[in-house]
Amino acid sequence: MARHSHGMDPMTFVTSVHCMDGRVQEPIITFLRDRYNVSYVDCITEVSPCRILSDESNEKSIKLILNKIAISLHHHHSKLIALSGHHDCAGNQSDRAQQIEQIHKGKHMLNEHYPEVDIICLWVNQDWHIEVV
Ligand SMILES: [Zn+2]
Repeated sequence: MARHSHGMDPMTFVTSVHCMDGRVQEPIITFLRDRYNVSYVDCITEVSPCRILSDESNEKSIKLILNKIAISLHHHHSKLIALSGHHDCAGNQSDRAQQIEQIHKGKHMLNEHYPEVDIICLWVNQDWHIEVV
């Protein structure tokens, strides 16, 4: 495989698990591309995935998300998963603090499945700006 001549291996793909809400797509992708200097963001979208991942009774939905994450990690060699929630989510009536709790719980679960991968938690606020939480 050809090596890039400049410094470390570029991390070409990262993985983002975020809501299907059209308002969060661009802010999250732009944030991750800029922060990690990657070419692409694999996007796994659900209606409020942080709510799904934080509730063990959603076994089937969780499995579908995990399968998609596995493809991104194994085929695109992503070394980072971002899990996020956002302001004014139609699929999640919880307030900011409660959603952030769900995100952290989801992160913990993902970490058990993928201990070799970094996982970061993001909040898309009322200005559609990204906060690392
Ligand atoms: Zn949403």
